[in-house]
Amino acid sequence: MAKEKKFITCDGNAAAAHIAYMFSEVSCIYPITPSSPMAENVDEWASQGRKNLFNETVNLVELQSEGGAAGAVHGSMQAGALTTTYTASQGLLLMIPNMYKIAGELLPCVFHVSARALAAHALSIFGDHADIYAARQTGFAMLASGSVQETMDLSAVSHLTAIRSRVPFVNFFDGFRTSHEIQKIEAIDMEDIRGLVDMEALQAFRDRALNPTTPELRGTAQNPDVYFQGREAANKFYDAVPGIVEGYMADMAKVTGREYHLFDYYGAADAENVIIAMGSVTDTIREVIDYKARNGEKVGMVAVHLYRPFSAKHFMDAIPATAKRLTVLDRTKEPGANGDPMYLDVRDVFYGKENAPMIVGGRYGLGSKDTTPAQILAVYKNMELSEPKNQFTVGITDDVTFKSIPVGEDIHVSAEGTYEAKFYGLGSDGTVGANKNSIKIIGGATDKYCQAYFAYDSKKSGGFTASHLRFGDNPIRSTYLVTTPDFVACHVHAYLHQYDVLKGLKKGGSFLLNTHWSEEEVIAHLPENMKRYIGENEINFYIINGTELGAKLGLGNRTNAIMQSAFFKITNVIPFELASEEMKKAIVKSYGRKGEKVVQMNYNAVDEGGKPESVVKVNVPTEWASLEVKEVVAEESNKPAFIKDVCDVMNAQAGDDLPVSAFAGREDGTFPAGTTKFEKRGIAINVPEWEIDNCIQCNQCAYVCPHAAIRPFLMSDEEVANLPEGTEVKPAIGKDLKEYKFRIQVSPLDCTGCGNCADVCPAKEKALVMKPLDSQVEEEARLIHMDEKVGYKNVVAPTNVKNSQFAQPLFEFSGACAGCGETPYIKLITQLFGERMMVANATGCTSIYGGSAPSTPYTKNYASGRGPAWANSLFEDNAEFGLGMLTGGNKMRTRISERMAENMASVNANTKLAFENWLESKEDGEKTIEVSEALSAALKNETNPVAQELLALEHYFVKKSQWIFGGDG
Ligand code: SF4
Ligand code: SF4
Repeated sequence: MAKEKKFITCDGNAAAAHIAYMFSEVSCIYPITPSSPMAENVDEWASQGRKNLFNETVNLVELQSEGGAAGAVHGSMQAGALTTTYTASQGLLLMIPNMYKIAGELLPCVFHVSARALAAHALSIFGDHADIYAARQTGFAMLASGSVQETMDLSAVSHLTAIRSRVPFVNFFDGFRTSHEIQKIEAIDMEDIRGLVDMEALQAFRDRALNPTTPELRGTAQNPDVYFQGREAANKFYDAVPGIVEGYMADMAKVTGREYHLFDYYGAADAENVIIAMGSVTDTIREVIDYKARNGEKVGMVAVHLYRPFSAKHFMDAIPATAKRLTVLDRTKEPGANGDPMYLDVRDVFYGKENAPMIVGGRYGLGSKDTTPAQILAVYKNMELSEPKNQFTVGITDDVTFKSIPVGEDIHVSAEGTYEAKFYGLGSDGTVGANKNSIKIIGGATDKYCQAYFAYDSKKSGGFTASHLRFGDNPIRSTYLVTTPDFVACHVHAYLHQYDVLKGLKKGGSFLLNTHWSEEEVIAHLPENMKRYIGENEINFYIINGTELGAKLGLGNRTNAIMQSAFFKITNVIPFELASEEMKKAIVKSYGRKGEKVVQMNYNAVDEGGKPESVVKVNVPTEWASLEVKEVVAEESNKPAFIKDVCDVMNAQAGDDLPVSAFAGREDGTFPAGTTKFEKRGIAINVPEWEIDNCIQCNQCAYVCPHAAIRPFLMSDEEVANLPEGTEVKPAIGKDLKEYKFRIQVSPLDCTGCGNCADVCPAKEKALVMKPLDSQVEEEARLIHMDEKVGYKNVVAPTNVKNSQFAQPLFEFSGACAGCGETPYIKLITQLFGERMMVANATGCTSIYGGSAPSTPYTKNYASGRGPAWANSLFEDNAEFGLGMLTGGNKMRTRISERMAENMASVNANTKLAFENWLESKEDGEKTIEVSEALSAALKNETNPVAQELLALEHYFVKKSQWIFGGDG
């Protein structure tokens, strides 16, 4: 009797970890996004006592760096324990020295890699193949998977082959697209593969382990006489790998029923145009091939699984004899190379062969750029040209070097009957968690296949999230974002005016809006373009006041359970009673430890979200379908061009539309300072209102605010006279402040609603009261006036909490989490030293809220134009990076001193005095600001040629205040 299939709903990381756990005796780890969940899974399972193939738990060791993890893998393997690690991006690159050693010594470990881009002009935590390509020369075999199911299946092939072949493996799949995509897949049981393990080879591995019983020596130093021969001696092990992989793929097919080959061909047997690719894009290409086949077109694709060793023979066997044109898609960029890596591999296979097909290469999907069916159609179209473009890019518009190929409109190619849903949420509002839960409910409670993928902006929390869900009766191969949803939920009212949330919603689809508006108010206030879309496309439009319901139920802004329940109620994808039961089971799992009260509150949320009085179907007026939508004339603003042309576009989630030329002049990744000031996110539900009479002017509220969204101002009588109408002020308290008026000003649209300011306010009667955002928006204009017209007065030394806050914060409105405990300190440092500040930042929280494009919270002092200069290198090198900044700067300052000393006698008296003053105070930071101005002025009137040399070094005159910020604070 056929064995019953066991389905699980999990992501690619969990699928790889599921297999890795079975084969691991030891795991040596160091976390890096997006691979960390693999190690976390292994850790959790080990602590729960899960058993591996040897009926033991995995011994997990966390090291101090990726280099350390690779070193520990090396040692553990030499000691005879099957060992794994999990990594990505720079993490993999830091392992490279040990990878050479491990491969050179034929130690059969497996590195599971969720492939990710490398930091170059900017950091990217997202997926491409730059990391695995950078390790392709180490001697590790490399096996690629394109989906969560493939990851489960082929991870087993990696481990099995490593043991038999003695060649270590990098088992890789796409970061985020596969590592974090949730799919319903068939799980492999340990007992299914136990019989496939080559026990003899495993015993031989153990027998080779270093031990003093049979002492041997490894890792010798070799001279020119034998090193070369030694390198060649291992060839036979690599020659054997393709055959062993093929054999294990066949064995696995007997177990799972799923067939793989080193190179899998898909498409028409007599195709002329064939794409070669690896990773998650292969499923998208399969969809497009099927779409073309339905239209009578014959095309094909070779999905590469075993990338190293690259078997020319197996590759040729996979290419149809009819192929006339090949396009090799590489998910990386090797600047300056004569083609990207796999393109060169494929070209080499055909080198010198008669009747070889035309071969072109193209780049796609760098840093997780979504690769859509329309882009794949464009790749096939390129092949149809008499002279197909070579070394092209697809998915961007390159209007500078003109490498991109044109892409047509999005098309719908998912399997028949696939239901697609899209949810817009706010980071930390629970939307993503609820959707992960929904997809598991649908996957677990029905026979349906399902997929979930989550896209975020770069804010730490309180940012934009979009959840992309699909489910249907056929396996889901759409490895790209949902662009033509059947259902859209917008969980954040403010998004109505910021994003095109209805974009692509299918005719007759459903739209659920979380709003404080009543049905009448919705009809009155919904933006016209949305009304027209809803009317024209016969959209079923629902509203719910999830925020109010959440607050009533004691859940604060956690509207997730309410909105999840409303989704099930509206879509009826599974009977609502069943969904409600499953949601409640999940609540017990998630919140059971927090006590009965919390569980009950969430139960109530599920019940409320499903009530007809909560979810209101809007009676869409018939005239909406023909409503004339007035063209929105872009508001004239005095924003800098880069903000309007680039930052605003990115913040509207339309950055994909920016052409390469948008970054002209910024090719090195430089962004201007102070862009967050223009964002005005308006994400708080409640913001502080200043109660003037209660305020004792301590400035503690400003001191603790993580976002510099509440500030004290001092004003002269003249400035008071020019304040916007109704702006209240009071006489300033303080010995040196008698001539000023005082005001606390809130920036409601920059506030995150954390409440820290109101909590800390020591006034007897609280001087800050949290009020709904809507009631405070007019304060924003006041903030802008105070910030730009009144400004910041340097009338008292910043030697205590109160006085420090009168200085302009040069770190403002960052994307840090609401209530962040780190950013008030950074803000304070910028108030004290910001005008001379250089920051060497490590990758981590501080770099994400400090410099996630396009948000740059480090800004300039309005009066001087000076401010913190900030740069991020990597995660692990910021102390060295900072040392380099200091050393480089000091070198230039030493040159200045030397030139002054050499020329003291030959410059005019004024310049001489400026030289003397500067030399005397060059190590006194604040003083150098003062003397440097006089120095610059003197040099501009100096005739000695040294003046020009020194003026070219002008920005070194002021002594820098050097800071090193760790990744996580
Ligand atoms: Fe700042 Fe939080 Fe107060 Fe808003 S609520 S002003 S973010 S401290
Ligand atoms: Fe006024 Fe309260 Fe702020 Fe102190 S903390 S300045 S009392 S509002």
